[in-house]
Amino acid sequence: MIVILKQNAPEDKIHAFCRELEAMGFQINDSKGSDTHILGLIGDTKALSESWLLANPIVESCRRVSEPYKKANRKFHPDDTVVEVGGKVKIGGGHFAVMAGPCSVESEAQITGVARRVQAAGASILRGGAFKPRTSPYSFQGLRAEGLELLNKAKAVTGQPIVTELMDSVHIPLFLREGVDMIQIGARNMQNFELLKAVGRTDKPVLLKRGLSATLEELVMSAEYIMAAGNPNVVLCERGIRTFENSMRNTLDISAVPMLKKMTHLPVIIDPSHAAGIAFMVPSLAAAAVAAGADGLMIEVHNDPAHAKSDGAQSLTPDQFDTLMETLCPEIEFFGKALN
Ligand code: PEP
Ligand code: MN
Repeated sequence: MIVILKQNAPEDKIHAFCRELEAMGFQINDSKGSDTHILGLIGDTKALSESWLLANPIVESCRRVSEPYKKANRKFHPDDTVVEVGGKVKIGGGHFAVMAGPCSVESEAQITGVARRVQAAGASILRGGAFKPRTSPYSFQGLRAEGLELLNKAKAVTGQPIVTELMDSVHIPLFLREGVDMIQIGARNMQNFELLKAVGRTDKPVLLKRGLSATLEELVMSAEYIMAAGNPNVVLCERGIRTFENSMRNTLDISAVPMLKKMTHLPVIIDPSHAAGIAFMVPSLAAAAVAAGADGLMIEVHNDPAHAKSDGAQSLTPDQFDTLMETLCPEIEFFGKALN
């Protein structure tokens, strides 16, 4: 961390400030030029807040020179992390996973039918929302605990691990009892820090989706929360962000993939369904994700999109998903990854 002091800062205040920083464990590299006075702080500055420094009247500005995240940082962990889901599916480090299924679990016939179809097409993890974060309280809120039971029935049929969204930490015991294999933290909860700490205290893999207007550093800091609480099994998901463009639901930030891979060692997947909001765009965005180096995809598939209880417009039919997987399989191999 570099701290630039104000030109007229009194010597006694500078002295007191330096002693305070030293007492906090930092070494100070003091460099005074003709018109700038800079303090270089050496040590672990991740817990040092910029606003605390700026609140001191002698401080002009400050700049971080190392990232505030350590556990998620590629610099301290150069190898790709491989996250294992349900003891059989690997994500990251050359392993590519496709998670597919409906936005919401609606009935036993629906979820088991879709589960069979996506498995046959090459998906390795079944997705389905039981607790749904809806913009309107009058929209379908999900089947909740019953939805988890139905996901389990589908799992009994296909044997595939399940990923589903957790919105409240009170449901963690229920999720663990129901054998949820991967806990999804949705975009709207990316900075629900108590929820992040709570899933960090479990040993379940976590799928952390990027917030609608979160920077990549904020996303990685949220992953850091989960890891700092003890759970290293985090997969990051870019799912589109809010921009000025309004012809589609969100804008897929494809550049997030190479940048996140530079920043962190965690696997990165893309959700083209929520990014686009329209089914016809999903195959192009999925192909772009593979080319950009993503470690997986999350795709919404519904047996009858026109009658889906949520996100029908962006859902592929099982037939459309078959066609997509046929084109993606050789592409995944071409880009050097192995499909689970
Ligand atoms: C979902 O995956 O169904 C979902 C609600 O996603 P997001 O949090 O990205 O909106
Ligand atoms: Mn959805």
